[in-house]
Formats: sequence, C-alpha cells, structure tokens
Amino acid sequence: MNYISLDLEWNQAYAQKALAVQKRLACRLRGEVIQIGAVKLDSDLNIIGSYRTTVRPKYFRTIHRHVMRLTGIDQNMIDHGTPLPDAIDRFRRWCGEDFAFLTWGPDDIPMLEDNLRVHRLDGAWLHRTYDLQRIYNAQQTDHTKSQPSLEHAMEHFGIEQNLPAHDALNDAYFTALVARKLDIAAGVASYEESRQDGALASGVVGDADTGGKGFPSPEELLKAPAFAAPVCPLCENLLTPEGDLLHARRQRYARLYRCNEHGKMLLRIHLVRNFDETWRAKYALLPADADTEADYRRRLAAAESFATLHKRRKRHSLRKTADTTHLASPPDASVSFPQEDG
Ligand SMILES: [Zn+2]
Repeated sequence: MNYISLDLEWNQAYAQKALAVQKRLACRLRGEVIQIGAVKLDSDLNIIGSYRTTVRPKYFRTIHRHVMRLTGIDQNMIDHGTPLPDAIDRFRRWCGEDFAFLTWGPDDIPMLEDNLRVHRLDGAWLHRTYDLQRIYNAQQTDHTKSQPSLEHAMEHFGIEQNLPAHDALNDAYFTALVARKLDIAAGVASYEESRQDGALASGVVGDADTGGKGFPSPEELLKAPAFAAPVCPLCENLLTPEGDLLHARRQRYARLYRCNEHGKMLLRIHLVRNFDETWRAKYALLPADADTEADYRRRLAAAESFATLHKRRKRHSLRKTADTTHLASPPDASVSFPQEDG
C-alpha cells in the first residue's frame, strides 16, 4: 500500500456571504478548495511522486485577502484553475487504487468531503486517512502543545524549512518528511484500535452540515427517539434506563441503560452546533462494566446534589423556576468524561 501525504489550501468568504451560500446549498461549506498538493510514498516511505493543481472555486470566487496573503495564490491563478470535478478526477487517477492518506491535523479531509458533497461527488475514497498530528502526539513525550504545528514537528525532527510554507505541495512534502521520522505502522495500528472504540453502535442525529435536518434546541434533540427510547443494537429490544440523564459537562450527556439479554450499556451523547445554528448529536452506545457504572453513578450523584442546591438557591431568590431536575448539571469540569473525538 502507498501513502499519500495530502495538503489543501482553501478560499473563504466573508461571514455573511458564507452563510448565504450555505443556506442556499443547505449544507456546510466553510471554504472552497483552491489548491491540492500531494506527495506519494511507497510502503517503505520512499517518495515516489508529487502532485499539485490549482482549483477554480464555484461559490467563493473572489480570493479572500487573508488567504492570498497566506498562500500567495491570487485571483488570476484561481480564475485559471481547473473546476473541482475535473481536478478530482485527475487527482484520483494519480492516487491509484491502494493507498491511505496522511494529513497534518484533522481539517483537510472534512473540508474536501464538504467540497465533494456540494458538487455531488463521491467521498468514500477519502475514508482511509490518518492524521499524522495525532500519531506524532501519541509517539512524542514532549507534550507541550495538543495541536502542534507542522513547523513544530519539523523543528523537533531537525527538518529544514527550505521551501515556503502554505503552498499545498510544499506542506504535503514537509508532511511526508515528518511521516518518515514517525513509526507509521505502529501509529496506524493504534489509530485503528481507537477508531473502533468498542462501541456497540454509534452515529449522528440531526446533521444539517451534511444536508440533514438539525434540531432547533438541545432539549428537542434529546427528545429524539435515538435518545428518548434507545434500542439495544444487538437484539433491537427497547433499553431500560438505569438512572437519569447525566449532564456531564458543557454539551456532553450520558445515561445508563440495561438490555435484559445483553446487559448494561452507557449511551454517550455529544451535542454540536450545525452551520445554521441548529443542533446535531454524535452518540455512542458502549458496553458498561462495573467500573463504568460506578463512575456514572458517582457523577450523577455529584450532579444531582448540585441541581438540588441550585434549585434551593433559586427558590430563595423567589424567581420562577423551570423544572431542571431531569437534567442534572455538575458544578465544574472536574466531573468530566474521557475525551472523545471532536
Ligand atoms: Zn439486547
């Protein structure tokens, strides 16, 4: 299998224009790809090819001042660029059949997916992707930054920055050089393990960013059948709640359930805002062992005591109170869930 180190530059529009375009398209489009840069490596990480193309944007056609300053890509260049469908067609042919993408940071692939979606192009070929920033973080001990820049990693490995940055091909090349310093095989293996995450089921509800319908509020979203009446993914029987919905922190919730046949399960919900201000939820249903259950009950107790206190205070102040007992909020982030992605 080959690796393809990929870097994209994208154009942006000013906020109002960007929102108007996204509303018209009814999905997320935070930027439009204007340059694709890629370096091909064989399975031993020898560099065997490179690719760069300029793309003509369809919706954000005026180069953003900031993007021009950063990338050196000007209006004339994008005006003479290749339309995305043609650019992607050629790029895919260059990529070949058996490959995995390497990127620096988690942004490039979702950006390309969004771009493909608005052009009604297939995005499934992007799915074998590894974020080198994550592999770098896992393999280095100097955890000074959670999202170290490519420059930081280059400096760490003593790679000379001898080409201008923020050119898609140069950045793809630098990413390839960093990849050669990492234990890619080990990184990829641990990546696959954590990607599985042991969930019995997972998914997204209300994703307006990808053309679905978002929910007007977190409350409405939590009333969706997936959360109000979840079923066991193994036998499809309705799950029985084993406790209240725990408001873990900020937009994260959890609730313990039981399937008579398959035992206890923890439903984790993470609420996220869509581009159009509506809400979506990422969720995962995980098998819950005794430790998980104890953890959940401890957090719920802490949250409930906070809610009770909160209510008492409110009563004291003689304000009209909404019923908050069903959603217990903890007082601080010390009652926190293990980090999930995104
Ligand atoms: Zn079951």
